[in-house]
Amino acid sequence: MTSPEGNTKVLEKRTQKKDGLLAGKRGIVFGVANDHSLAWHCAKMLYDEGAELAFTYQGENLERRIKPLAESVNSPFVDMCDLGNDEQIDKSFSKLAEKWETIDFVVHAVAFANREDLEGRFVDTSRDGFKLALDVSAYTLTAVTRRALPLMKNGGSIVTLTYYGAEKVVPNYNVMGVAKAALEASVQYLAADLGQDKVRVNAVSAGPVKTLAAKGISGFGEMLKLVEAKAPLRRNVQQDEVAKSVLYLLSDLASGVTGEVIHVDCGYSILGM
Ligand code: NAP
Repeated sequence: MTSPEGNTKVLEKRTQKKDGLLAGKRGIVFGVANDHSLAWHCAKMLYDEGAELAFTYQGENLERRIKPLAESVNSPFVDMCDLGNDEQIDKSFSKLAEKWETIDFVVHAVAFANREDLEGRFVDTSRDGFKLALDVSAYTLTAVTRRALPLMKNGGSIVTLTYYGAEKVVPNYNVMGVAKAALEASVQYLAADLGQDKVRVNAVSAGPVKTLAAKGISGFGEMLKLVEAKAPLRRNVQQDEVAKSVLYLLSDLASGVTGEVIHVDCGYSILGM
C-alpha cells in the first residue's frame, strides 16, 4: 500500500503479546533507515514481545519514511538526531526524559563510512575518512550509552550490531573493520564500567544482510554467495534471526551476560579455511 504523499508504505498496526519477554519495558532504537534496516527488524520483534519503543532518524528527508514505521508499533517518540552531533544527542535524550522517567534498553544499529573507503586498499584510507567511520560507527555507542545511563534507573541492557570484519580481514570492509574492532572493544569497556549500575552491554555480530548500509560495501553480492557456499548452515542469516538474538540480550533471559559478542552468522566465523 502507498501513502497519498508518495511511495511510503502504510503499515498495518502490529499486535503485541501481553506477556512477552519485554512486557513493561521501554527502550530507544537508533538506526532505522527503512523497512530493510536491521534496527527495524529488531524493533518489530521487540514491540511484539511487549516493549514500548522510541526512535530517532538522522536527517529531515528520512522523517517521511520513519514516521509510518514508528506508528505501526505505536511509538510515542520519534525525533531527528544526527549521532555525529553531541548537541543533537543531548536534545534527543532530554526530550526523551520529559516523556519517560526511565528506560530499560538501547539498540544501537548505526554505522557509516565514505564509499571510497569501502573499496580498494585499506592503506589508502584518509585521516578524515578514518575519523568519520570511527566516530559514527564506534564512538556513538559510548555517546548514547552515557546519555542513556541516567534514565536506566532500574538497570538496563544495551546492544549494538557488529560484523566479523572486526576480527579478520574481509575484502573491501577496510576502515569499517577497524571501526567495528573499536566498537567491540568499547562494548567490553562499557560493560566493565556499567556492571555496577546493573547495565549490561553486548553486541550481536551479524552475517551479511542486504540493507542500505551493506550496499555501500564493494562486492557485497560476492560476500553473500561465499557465505551461502561455505557457512556451516549453508545459507545466509535472516534479519529475524539477528533480531531474535538482540531480543535475547535485551531480555532477562540474558541477565548474566555482559561484554559479549554473539555471532549470528550461520556459523561462518568458526571456519579457519
Ligand atoms: P541501514 O539500514 O543502512 O542502517 C544504518 C543506520 O545507521 C541508518 O539508519 C543510518 O541512517 C544510520 N546512521 C548513519 N550515520 C548516522 C549518524 N551520523 N547519525 C545517526 N544515524 C546514522 O543498514 P544496516 O545494515 O541495518 O546497519 C545497522 C547496523 O548493523 C550497522 O552498525 C551495521 O554495520 C551493522 N551490520 C550490518 C550487517 C549487514 O550485512 N547489513 C552485518 C553486520 C552488522 P541514514 O540512512 O540516515 O544514514
